[in-house]
Amino acid sequence: MVSRIIPVDPFDLVIFGGTGDLARRKILPALFRRFCAGQFPEGARIIGAARTDMSLAEYHAMVAVALSEHAEGRECAPGTVAEFLNRVMYVATDAMGEQGWSALSDLLKPTASERQSVFYFSVGPRLFGALAERLHLHGLAHEHTRIVVEKPFGHDLESAKALNAVLAEHFDESQVYRIDHYLGKETVQNLMAVRFGNMLFEPLWNSQYVDHIQITVAESVGITGREEYYDRAGAMRDMVQNHLMQLLCLIAMEPPAKFDPDAVRDEKLKVIRALDPVLPHHIVRGQFEACLDPGDPHPSYRGSVGNPRSTTESYIALRTHISNWRWAGTPFYLRTGKRLKARSSVINVMFKDAPHSIFGEEAGRHANLLSIRLQPNEGITLKVTIKEPGPGGMRLVDVPLDMTFAEALGPDGEDPPGAYERLIVDVIRGNQTLFMRGDEVEAAWGWTDPIIAGWNSRGDVPKPYASGSPGPTDADLLMRRDGREWRGINP
Ligand code: NAD
Repeated sequence: MVSRIIPVDPFDLVIFGGTGDLARRKILPALFRRFCAGQFPEGARIIGAARTDMSLAEYHAMVAVALSEHAEGRECAPGTVAEFLNRVMYVATDAMGEQGWSALSDLLKPTASERQSVFYFSVGPRLFGALAERLHLHGLAHEHTRIVVEKPFGHDLESAKALNAVLAEHFDESQVYRIDHYLGKETVQNLMAVRFGNMLFEPLWNSQYVDHIQITVAESVGITGREEYYDRAGAMRDMVQNHLMQLLCLIAMEPPAKFDPDAVRDEKLKVIRALDPVLPHHIVRGQFEACLDPGDPHPSYRGSVGNPRSTTESYIALRTHISNWRWAGTPFYLRTGKRLKARSSVINVMFKDAPHSIFGEEAGRHANLLSIRLQPNEGITLKVTIKEPGPGGMRLVDVPLDMTFAEALGPDGEDPPGAYERLIVDVIRGNQTLFMRGDEVEAAWGWTDPIIAGWNSRGDVPKPYASGSPGPTDADLLMRRDGREWRGINP
């Protein structure tokens, strides 16, 4: 098999928040895996930058622990961790003050014109503006600079606009990478390959043949460690406005003229702009209840956030429509929640029944279904109808055509890079296709804000649901009223 490791130019990658949870669990392990894969050019450096004062040896010890806990999945030669650590530096830096900035400039400036500087903002959003400002003040915001901005990108349209404006003071849009790790998943890109690389699907990809589309992002975990943030955000802001919206865009967009960042993002933006406002009776919000199971006891949502009157949703299901020629009349059902039955992210494209069954009523209904699984077990399955083998007449059964990648690529297939690995390499290479553009984020908030304002003005209270269940029963009613049902949430 031809190696898929495409070399990148030398770079410096500064992780602001280099001691934080995200850096330890995702960013550093992702960089290590790329290092093991041989994608680090000679001289590439990683610089942890955070407020904590610590020596280089202490930082290396912290990184080594993070790698041992979170960098599973790639075989590395003995001694690779030590080689990786040789590339890792640490500068105690205060985003809000002067500490560390001259040391950072001294480190980066001498090579600034020869290599890419990437600044990963893995800190709370209130620091994004301060970091952009200080990078500018210290001469580190220049033509070879790119910045990576973590979610949440704003809390509403107004704050997202303000954030975009602050970043735009010092960086061109082509230098800003707003990361959504869902877009880095192998299946998400495969979704585009399946749609636009085959003749088979695209002619059927419209309201004439598709009955409806379900997008589910279910999590079995709660909100431990994020209580304060989550109670201010809720499922709508934390998941729907970004992850589910991005998936909706990719599934519904028109074919871009080419696979180019702005061509793809233009098409995604058109989808968001064509979304109808969501009617109040097309939304169900929920909050998980306490679980007394001795195997996994935990408090209710309100107990978790320590606010017995909280009206923030830990679950949301909604029905929306895209007002354009392709999708007129096709409902899109979105749902996401915490403490659900299983961890499962899947997009189900439910095709219509055949217009007439030559096999009679007793053959039942057999519509095709294209299932795109993002996690776990990334892969795509097409459900097709065939004759049940054997004698005894014409009985129909549905069988899956499984396009699970590990099997399709065979035993020689390389372990595909994880989402953070892929996205960080894209930043270093300067490919923005899988990153959200400022106008996309604003348009998504523009659709989300009135929904949130609506339930605030109505004093809407989320419905309780049992932990470990598929969600509130009202979400089933949302479907049943339309003569449809949710696919099961399966691990
Ligand atoms: P964290 O609280 O664990 O870490 C925050 C980091 O910021 C620490 O390294 C801290 O030293 C640093 N920091 C704080 N104030 C600073 C200052 N004044 N100057 C310099 N550094 C400072 O947070 P986290 O979970 O790592 O999250 C970081 C960002 O990533 C947040 O925006 C969060 O919303 C986002 N995010 C996190 C996750 C996750 O799984 N942890 C997932 C998605 C997005």
